[in-house]
Amino acid sequence: MKHIPKKRFGQNFLTDQAIIQALVNAITPQPNDLMVEIGPGLGALTKPLIKDLQHLHVVEIDRDIISWMQSFYPLDKITIHNSDALKFDFKSIGDSANLQKLRVVGNLPYNISSPILFHLLDNVQTIIDMHFMLQKEVVERMVAATSTPAYGRLSVMLQYKLNMEYLFTVPPEAFDPPPKIESAFIRCVPHASLPFTAADEKLFAKVVLNAFGQRRKTLRNTLKGMLDDHGFTQLDINPQLRAENLSVEKFVAIANYLYNHLH
Ligand code: SAH
Repeated sequence: MKHIPKKRFGQNFLTDQAIIQALVNAITPQPNDLMVEIGPGLGALTKPLIKDLQHLHVVEIDRDIISWMQSFYPLDKITIHNSDALKFDFKSIGDSANLQKLRVVGNLPYNISSPILFHLLDNVQTIIDMHFMLQKEVVERMVAATSTPAYGRLSVMLQYKLNMEYLFTVPPEAFDPPPKIESAFIRCVPHASLPFTAADEKLFAKVVLNAFGQRRKTLRNTLKGMLDDHGFTQLDINPQLRAENLSVEKFVAIANYLYNHLH
């Protein structure tokens, strides 16, 4: 198909066959997997995936690509969802009882990568694993360790629910058109059971949001009105620290301390 890539949909199509093969190897599709690909585009991943899978779901926003897919793929192999992945109900895929969990893959549109990750995080109980191509810089933030410059809200919120593995870096030349930045491939697997559990996840999210709202400021400042000096002492947290110095465990401890003092 002749298709002019659309910038507004973040279209950078994978063309490097060795890299495509490496991605498929990392995913290791099994025939009976219940898999959904976000942003299939012209099929760089879709085509090899449906060789191994009995069936694949795809979520694509671009109507031109949708009409091409409808005539290109055998429709018993693929279910095409013409939808914005940010609004798509991932729980709608699969049997009504949701017995089989989803595997999610995609060379994601980079302009919406954080919102897609947060949207999927809300559906994590229906997901086995996720493999994504993203900007390298975002992948570095996802897996960042405490007290490093890349560690932020994205790291804490994702690491709370997911075990993540930086798989490999992918250069711009692997795509057409090449993006201006390097990319990386990442595997995310929901924790079988949460290492640290927030009694109220909304409160946890609010603490993390406030703490990183002004990341150069001390926790005493950013958590003012939530946590007083007595609270910091009780939690054994130095109020002069900044958000980037707090592990996921400590953020959960703060949220649970606040929860217990509200209830
Ligand atoms: N997987 C293909 C295409 C990647 S480009 C490849 O690797 O070559 C990103 C794809 O995501 C494009 O097909 C684009 O149309 C699609 N896309 C962009 N925004 C989207 C959204 N909000 N929801 C679903 N798909 C989207």
